[in-house]
Amino acid sequence: MSQEKIDALRKQVDEINLQLLQLINRRAALVQEIGNEKEKQGINRFDPEREREMLNLLVEHNEGPFNDNTIRHLFKQIFKVSLELQDDEKKRVLLVSRQKKSEDTVIQVKGVEFGGKAPILIAGPCSVESYEQVKEVAENHVKRGLRVLRGGAYKPRTSPYDFQGLGVEGLEILKRIGDEYNLVTISEIVSPNDIELATQYIDVIQIGARNMQNFELLKAAGRVNHPILLKRGLSATIEEFIYAAEYILSEGNTQVMLCERGIRTYEKATRNTLDISAVPLLKQETHLPVFVDVTHSTGRRDLLLPTAKAGFAVGADGVMIEVHPDPDVALSDAKQQVTIPQFNEIVDELLKSGLYKTEALLGK
Ligand code: PEP
Ligand code: MN
Repeated sequence: MSQEKIDALRKQVDEINLQLLQLINRRAALVQEIGNEKEKQGINRFDPEREREMLNLLVEHNEGPFNDNTIRHLFKQIFKVSLELQDDEKKRVLLVSRQKKSEDTVIQVKGVEFGGKAPILIAGPCSVESYEQVKEVAENHVKRGLRVLRGGAYKPRTSPYDFQGLGVEGLEILKRIGDEYNLVTISEIVSPNDIELATQYIDVIQIGARNMQNFELLKAAGRVNHPILLKRGLSATIEEFIYAAEYILSEGNTQVMLCERGIRTYEKATRNTLDISAVPLLKQETHLPVFVDVTHSTGRRDLLLPTAKAGFAVGADGVMIEVHPDPDVALSDAKQQVTIPQFNEIVDELLKSGLYKTEALLGK
């Protein structure tokens, strides 16, 4: 075959490509129109019977050289991408993404700005055990100019025989302390049925690592107008973490914060492996406030200060630390919680480092 002949045939192929391009886009536009009409009428867009009819018609008219299976395969792809066209915009540009919203989300609670200019320290016991126990921590918060108090009322424990938390009684204690000391309270909720109830007791609802992909819980959290702190799952990728947050936003609640809390790796020296790079990554990819839980990620008192510094240094909006008046007798996480004096030393060191200023100092 001469070169001229090849060139001439290629020219024809190019022309057909362009025709095909026009045709598949024309087809897509029509499918979109049908889709819009179906949506108006409340009919499901996917219609397998109609697809079967179209495939049969194509095969009936197929004169080759493609065999029938190839034709079915090719057109099935065209059907699929046309059907997906409507959802593309939503799928490509997530509500949590910077692409969707370039400015940082700032969540205001009782005068505290999560995701604002000032980094935040979230501190408190692993579990709410009694009014007196939480009160001791709260009094220290006030002395130190801290405004955000955590404490678990529903504890997702590895063993069913371990302390499961005080439940509503724990929430009541947090409510009382929050009111008495003007503190923002954070506590984990584990059941979708308790989300609505929790809004009456606590200021921020935490969704814990073990529930990061509890989709019914995420949807329930998305249906209330209340701040949510979502923690990264034990073995969740960043993508899965982002999609979990998207679940909440997709239901309407935009007040979502993320918390890196370490992931499971082969390393045994720490309880989990703190993925510090997750912080700048999540800040880049999403517009949500990002926190670092140094207690559950390291599980080591001696690493709380350096990892907290690291968290602030890479741009976290805040750090979470567990503090207990008497960790040795704590009903959960006894080994890794710090005493109030130890906690105060960490706060002093953070202040000295200049990476953190107490919430109260910022107002002055
Ligand atoms: C907690 O913060 O109380 C907790 C249980 O943490 P995580 O869900 O990250 O394990
Ligand atoms: Mn804990």
